[in-house]
Amino acid sequence: MKKKILVVDDEDFQRDLLNKLLTKSGYTVSEAESPEVALALMKNEEFPVIITDLIMLDMDGVEFCHRIREQNSQSVIIALTGYADLYDLEKLKQVGFDDYLTKPIKLNKIQPVVEAGFEEIKKRMKSRR
Ligand SMILES: [Mg+2]
Repeated sequence: MKKKILVVDDEDFQRDLLNKLLTKSGYTVSEAESPEVALALMKNEEFPVIITDLIMLDMDGVEFCHRIREQNSQSVIIALTGYADLYDLEKLKQVGFDDYLTKPIKLNKIQPVVEAGFEEIKKRMKSRR
């Protein structure tokens, strides 16, 4: 399986950084600057792992997560937050996220979470068969 990741963030800097770090680690990365753009991309392509910012202008990460779950319940969705204390993992899980990462982004923190995401995808695909 190709390890495809969709990175959704309204800040160019955060997307570039994640793209560079994840590409270096061997993942295939696509970027979207808004949830709307991301949802459009997802109509034509499947992304097993989606990493999304929570604070974005036209739609917040929680609503975006709902929208993804409406059209595709398989993807692992990882929240990217600079406001770790405002969101705890249990609340994020209740709305449909699988895990979260906090900013500032560091490769040694991202990689285990992303790898766990791809392991989880394998399980989901097996249980679907
Ligand atoms: Mg943002």
